[in-house]
Amino acid sequence: MSNENLAELLFPDVRLLPTDIYSLYPPRDLPSSAFVTRFAPSPTGSLNIGGLYATLISERLAHQSNGVFFLRIEDTDKKREIEGSLENIINSLSYFGILFDEGPQLTGDDKGDYGPYKQSSRMQIYQVFIKHLVRNGLAYPCFCDTDDLQKIRKSQQDIKVTTGYYGQWAKHRDITFEQAKEEISNGKPFVIRIKSSGSSGRRITYHDLVKGPIEIPENDQDIVIMKTDGLPTYHFAHAIDDYLMGTTHVIRGDEWLSSVPIHIQLFETLGFRVPQFGHIAPIMKQVGASKRKFSKRKDLDGTAEYYKEQGYPGISISEYFMNLINSNFEEWRMANPYQSFREFFIHTEKMNASGALFDMNKLDDISKEVISRLTGQQVFEYLYTWSKEFDSELYSLIDKNQDYTVNILNIGRTIDKPRKDYSKWSDVKPMIAFFYDELFEKDVSSGYMLPTSVNFDVAKEIVLGFSKSYRFNNEKEVWFHKIKELAGELGFAKDMKQYKANPNIYKGHVGDVAMVIRVALTNRTNTPDLFNMMKVMGETRVLSRMETFLGGSI
Ligand code: GLU
Repeated sequence: MSNENLAELLFPDVRLLPTDIYSLYPPRDLPSSAFVTRFAPSPTGSLNIGGLYATLISERLAHQSNGVFFLRIEDTDKKREIEGSLENIINSLSYFGILFDEGPQLTGDDKGDYGPYKQSSRMQIYQVFIKHLVRNGLAYPCFCDTDDLQKIRKSQQDIKVTTGYYGQWAKHRDITFEQAKEEISNGKPFVIRIKSSGSSGRRITYHDLVKGPIEIPENDQDIVIMKTDGLPTYHFAHAIDDYLMGTTHVIRGDEWLSSVPIHIQLFETLGFRVPQFGHIAPIMKQVGASKRKFSKRKDLDGTAEYYKEQGYPGISISEYFMNLINSNFEEWRMANPYQSFREFFIHTEKMNASGALFDMNKLDDISKEVISRLTGQQVFEYLYTWSKEFDSELYSLIDKNQDYTVNILNIGRTIDKPRKDYSKWSDVKPMIAFFYDELFEKDVSSGYMLPTSVNFDVAKEIVLGFSKSYRFNNEKEVWFHKIKELAGELGFAKDMKQYKANPNIYKGHVGDVAMVIRVALTNRTNTPDLFNMMKVMGETRVLSRMETFLGGSI
């Protein structure tokens, strides 16, 4: 009876009972093999790659089992909140192709029947359960202020026992209704603590999905479940929400492993089914010869935003993460080059229990592969969207020259083994800049970069000769034949074999002639196929670049 009175004293306005809440959250209508997982970030800034990695795992586990993956925003700590985080998280997940079935939307509405999905909108629900625990003698108000807690701590340190609020040290554990009433009438703030039934001498065992069997001491601390401002603590809100929302598997960073005893205790005290837990080690960064965790402050490349800014397609990151999640993905990918990575089944027990290493070179290789499978039109569309946000010069160029750009991007792409030259959208501009007259003119205004083996006067003869014989409609064979003839006329060997037999009697060979033409057109010595390039550039541009070269300097 006194617990009942205490509960009324503390929460006079809370009228609902847990049963009222349960009726709003019926069990999900899913087969028992379906996983329900979630990503539960706090809105404290941008997403880091570790978070993204864990999220992909959660999303895959849900969707590969025909389950549900949802997003929940854990915003009960208003002090740590950073404005714009929610938008940033939603946009990042969408960029990286991690789609959630339920959760907050950019419009401000929620999608899904198990919401609200922002903890700050769930205060009444938490209070119903807190009141319920007090009513049942499983939780109690604690009026200790920081000074009181400090004193307890000091006494514990003096006699060298574990510090904290537990057992005989828990001053308000057995507080009576009258005492509580008096504290409240004196205006004393209070928190609510759980009355822990655990003992640090006992151990719990559970099977971690990633780390395997874990044995860890029980929680004996009377942890705070509601703060003085009436908001629940993370631990408590997590238990309530994951139960009501039907989470079956909690996948998260291993910084939460040590909280598992608290969480299991909370689920059990509340009479809830305990979900399965899987704790992922942080992704490591290679620095010189050693490995370390990504640092929030130092490592720009530790944020999801960085990969978006650099222009890695979201799918490249997912493909790369799949390799880190299960190392047999690589073999599967080789056997199934055209299937979506979503066809591959991931297994938590095959995951790396210690930190997986983030290998930038591998990411680049995978991303090149991914981009090489796209059509020129698709690359154009990605580039268009990316440059609009991150490279206004490129954006205005490709916007003005849309068809031309698609043709440029198609060079070397419409064949069996397409070129693997771009790993990210920011790679594209330096490689195709010369196609655009504005950038090309800027480039050659400070002179042409001819290889030192070629004399500029001879180069001009080559370009003059070529421009006279050049016909846009010539087939590749005819076109090349003309270059060979020109080589012969100007004292170059028509083929390598000839040249190698008597190098001294020639100025060079046909390759040098083609190189000069290449430089005249692009001011580069390394470009895609010369003939294809000319086709894309068109007759007028080719001839005008020849003219520019003839009037130019080195
Ligand atoms: N809000 C917690 C965080 O920011 C979530 C932890 C969990 O997934 O349970 O990491």
